[in-house]
Amino acid sequence: MSEKSGKHIAIYGKGGIGKSTTTSNISAALAESGYRVIQIGCDPKSDSTTILRGGNDLPTVLDTLREQSKVKIEDISAVGFGGVLCIEAGGPVPGVGCAGRGINAAVELLQELHLFDEYKPDFVLYDVLGDVVCGGFAVPIRDGIADRAFVVTSSDFMAIFAANNLFKAINKYAPSGGARLGGVIANSIQHPYSQPLIDDFAELAGIPVIGYVPRSMTVAQSELFGKTVIEALPKSEQAEVYRKLARHIDHNLESVIPKPLNGPELKRWARSWGDRILQVETGVVQSMESI
Ligand code: ADP
Ligand code: MG
Repeated sequence: MSEKSGKHIAIYGKGGIGKSTTTSNISAALAESGYRVIQIGCDPKSDSTTILRGGNDLPTVLDTLREQSKVKIEDISAVGFGGVLCIEAGGPVPGVGCAGRGINAAVELLQELHLFDEYKPDFVLYDVLGDVVCGGFAVPIRDGIADRAFVVTSSDFMAIFAANNLFKAINKYAPSGGARLGGVIANSIQHPYSQPLIDDFAELAGIPVIGYVPRSMTVAQSELFGKTVIEALPKSEQAEVYRKLARHIDHNLESVIPKPLNGPELKRWARSWGDRILQVETGVVQSMESI
């Protein structure tokens, strides 16, 4: 592999948790500060960069490779908000093959085309599905592609479960040159317990929480316009939240090797939070201050 140009960041998380929304808003915020950014969607859903491009379609790398033998950068990319170069790895034909194949194909093609050497990005953001950190999905953290990984989670147990699986993968690959973890991005904060629950989990795993993104109507509204919050509602508080995340990723280069919880530990931890939330709901504990 040739010398890497720019900071390469992978953003993982359970499907539907807000990876693409968060990643696109971070890309938009970085671009707004004058950086050259590439965002690569590594999810068979292929909708990572939609809100950077006014909701328009973009041919995926896998589909284009299936249709033509010689592929140029222009065939598989589009310039979105703030000049962000958008690429979607794509996925296999449903029901056939490994869903992670698109990532491998995309990374190989971009290297063959010398995209990073020629485009000279300041940041490359990989938006990766993290339900299963197997095969292709582990490529960005496993093969020295990303320098740092971040995980998006809400306070839902399934999202925490997926985050814990990512910690296991990082823990396995980081000692042999894989990516380290930059931190947790807490998304969709809406209940009084959301923030303390995510804080508690992150502390147990030895990871910093780098930002709290409220569940906000501005996100839904911007999405309906096919835009990021940064583009649609640049003066909103939510836009400021995303700018703060982007500044953190830009300036704070610390990273850790997480300590994942094992199965019984995670179950015990979840139960203890179930009890605490139940107490609040039944009025035994009146506020979350005791948490
Ligand atoms: P993923 O990429 O992880 O599959 P998306 O980014 O596509 O998830 O988000 C899934 C849905 O959740 C989208 O409709 C998005 O607008 C919404 N969403 C994500 N984050 C927030 C938030 N902080 N507030 C409100 N809605 C959100
Ligand atoms: Mg997505």
